[in-house]
Amino acid sequence: MVQHRPHKHDCTVHTTDLLHRLGLLRPCIAGEDLRPVGAVELADWIDVELETEPEIAGHSWQVGLGDEVGLLVRPDHDDLAELLGGQAGVRSVVQLDREVFAVAAPRLCADGLRAAVMQAVAAANVRAHDPYFADQPDTSATASHPPQSVEPEEDDDLCRLVSGDAASDGRRVQVWVNMNGILILPAGTIPHGPLDQGENPRFQRATVTSARAVRLAKQHAGRWIPYAYLDNVRLRRPGLVRRRWSATVVERDGFSVPLSWRGTRPHALLLWGYVVARRGLGAADGLP
Ligand SMILES: [Zn+2]
Repeated sequence: MVQHRPHKHDCTVHTTDLLHRLGLLRPCIAGEDLRPVGAVELADWIDVELETEPEIAGHSWQVGLGDEVGLLVRPDHDDLAELLGGQAGVRSVVQLDREVFAVAAPRLCADGLRAAVMQAVAAANVRAHDPYFADQPDTSATASHPPQSVEPEEDDDLCRLVSGDAASDGRRVQVWVNMNGILILPAGTIPHGPLDQGENPRFQRATVTSARAVRLAKQHAGRWIPYAYLDNVRLRRPGLVRRRWSATVVERDGFSVPLSWRGTRPHALLLWGYVVARRGLGAADGLP
């Protein structure tokens, strides 16, 4: 959790200050069960970490935004970095990825920085609903047409969560798949909501480029397995007693990662489906 040391920083705002001040943020995309979002929920989607070896010199904070934040800002405008840079105590912002920022804010605590990010998101959300900004010319040809679909753009970097709490060699890990590979990280590394255990679940999503997957795996002692390096995946259905799915992901060099998790068949099918889509039936052993 957030380390809060009042005497060591000079934040002008913390997340508790925003609980009643921020107001509700309206999603930019109309769609089924998309409701306004409050400060508590928003705070949950913002991950703030102090990096001991920052990628950008002097930018020791790394801010990661959950995929859900993308619903609150204009999809084809990247003004979050600019708005975050304008917050009190924030000196510089470098956007590493669509939802990852390196931030120099030496006089803020983690909670103060999270509050600054929340204010930046709120400002971007106001802009997103402001017709003046909507009419501003943009490099994207679709800027004046509001997106029709609830689905984020389906690209190869879009990951889906197989399990947020799988066991692997005694560690708790999260398992993501996309069209590029399989990403295994310590549980909680990429923020996500609870796993939908329904028989027809809505999968948790995160957009992770291959470059970021490599970086995350390195930083967090996880594993990024591009399909080119995958030999096969062996999948086993839950037994009667332990009720857990299990899988062994075998890499071409013989390295293998054991996984087991509690989940529904659709989650297992997800892993199986991506592997089969990219590597063919021969790479998947066992049928979910
Ligand atoms: Zn503070």
